[in-house]
Amino acid sequence: MSKTCTDLDTFMSGLKKRNPGQKEFHAAVHEVASDVLPFIADNKDYQGECLLERLTEPDRIISFRVSWVDDDGNVRANRAWRVQFCNAIGPYKGGIRFHETVTESVLKFLGFEQTFKNSLTGLPMGGAKGGSNFNPKGKSDGEIMRFCQSMMTELHRYIGPDKDVPAGDIGVGAREIGYMFGQYRRLSHTFTGAMTGKGVSFGGSVGRKEATGHGVVYFMREMMHAVDDGIEGKTAVVSGSGNVALYCLEKLIQLGAKPLTASDSSGFIHDPDGIDEEKLDFIKDLKEVRRGRIKEYADKYGCNFSEGRPWDIKADLAFPCATQNELDKDDAQSLIDNGLIALAEGANMPCTSDAQHLLRNNVLYAPGKASNAGGVAVSGLEQSQNSQRVSWSIEEVDKRLQEIMEKIHCKCVKYGEGKDRTDYVRGANIGGFTKVADALQQCGVV
Ligand code: GLU
Repeated sequence: MSKTCTDLDTFMSGLKKRNPGQKEFHAAVHEVASDVLPFIADNKDYQGECLLERLTEPDRIISFRVSWVDDDGNVRANRAWRVQFCNAIGPYKGGIRFHETVTESVLKFLGFEQTFKNSLTGLPMGGAKGGSNFNPKGKSDGEIMRFCQSMMTELHRYIGPDKDVPAGDIGVGAREIGYMFGQYRRLSHTFTGAMTGKGVSFGGSVGRKEATGHGVVYFMREMMHAVDDGIEGKTAVVSGSGNVALYCLEKLIQLGAKPLTASDSSGFIHDPDGIDEEKLDFIKDLKEVRRGRIKEYADKYGCNFSEGRPWDIKADLAFPCATQNELDKDDAQSLIDNGLIALAEGANMPCTSDAQHLLRNNVLYAPGKASNAGGVAVSGLEQSQNSQRVSWSIEEVDKRLQEIMEKIHCKCVKYGEGKDRTDYVRGANIGGFTKVADALQQCGVV
């Protein structure tokens, strides 16, 4: 078998057989394969060497136990993984997630997505993802530190600046990266750029924290410009209140849009007057420092707090920035009925496949692998700075981020040309695939 099978059903039934029960991974591959297989069928150059079959099999998965001691002296054990998906175009690169929903299937889906996303950035980064089913909510600083150190005691064997460079994701921010990097430094006796998202005082890049959220708004700006429209004056619904959402809100405000919502796992606030800079500072303090609930915003500013998600709120633009599968078909329909113009994903796969189908056919719709690539792009810039032992200014980093988001947009337009509108999903899938496939072909069967 050396020719790629281009029939989607046959391809997917083989994949499901090889990866039983891994629903999240199946969904991610299905989305990519439904664009890439027809592309392969039309392009002889990509028909040999089982390219998509090889790209859907991770290079390796490392699975290990993380033992740690909680504040009451109890011994606890969690499971952790690093999925090193594909290093055809550069060292493995991707975040680490701490959340009770983390499974091997979730990390395979995220590592697969990351391979395409990293390719789209144009930087030399392969795809990986890691994480643990550890739930960081309610844990003390000491517990977080001991968990991170124990995790790195095993993980350090498999990472390094030319090998695999982890970063943050859900549940892993500056604090956790600091603890893990500290332990890596100690165990490896080196100070290298083996992780990104580091504090600026120890090799981190300025602008990394803001990059995913700012990048998603830059991408939206490109989508709007492409249809002779803009962001200024537009209303926006944003979900989440983590790193991505906070800096998406920030950039929306800076570019003159009016964000109306923010959320956390308990519900969402709707502020019809718009979230402004001062209110955003309140949310940043609430979430980044005090780690409180979003309802406090509604109490302080006298607006509505409701359980659930904000997708019934009327707005021009939407930015799901919380987590996967947070926006379903009914949510998509309600956004469309309320006159939505465009949606850009800040999270990884926040829209279910039914929702994605609806959005793709009715509005401008950017999948996360294109629109949220700003975070990993600035991680790539952090790697470059670390290798050169230099620190760029925020102006330099922001300029490069904007250029990268513009180039990703161009790639999506190149491969996603459509009758009524650009199909950004197809554009991102094929644009991401071609670079990795070219590298796989030129490096022989390995
Ligand atoms: N976790 C982020 C993502 O999903 C960033 C990964 C990184 O910076 O390596 O792209």
